[in-house]
Amino acid sequence: MTESPEEFDGKVPEERCGYTFPEDSVFEDDPGSVSQQGSCIRDPLSDSDRCAFHANPAETEHKLHQLRNTGPVGDSLDGAILQHHFADSVEFADISLLRDAALYHADLSGADLSDANLLRAHLSYANLSEAELSDADLSGGSPV
Ligand SMILES: [Zn+2]
Repeated sequence: MTESPEEFDGKVPEERCGYTFPEDSVFEDDPGSVSQQGSCIRDPLSDSDRCAFHANPAETEHKLHQLRNTGPVGDSLDGAILQHHFADSVEFADISLLRDAALYHADLSGADLSDANLLRAHLSYANLSEAELSDADLSGGSPV
């Protein structure tokens, strides 16, 4: 009767965010890091082509509001733009993919990032005190 998002078949409809983790072949020699390729199927913000996680905060007025009102985000926030206070609205415990995510100046103190893949994540000036980073993959990330 209603459309089930679980039956999503890999094609990204026009009206979805469509963010895809870069397939720029740089990591092709490390298949483990790109095995969970996928495009973002979240609904875009009303004034952006991207969803609340992938919209440039300089180009939308609704990012923070939408982040605060979003439910569980699944396990992938590849490429999420969550620097500064934007990270405050996100529960990181269940997220395993934060590749290329913008998290500079984010307050991640006490966040559970164990087993998270933070490949190329931008963590400059992020507060990682008491963050759980056991088994987190920080390779290629910017220096903290
Ligand atoms: Zn998105």
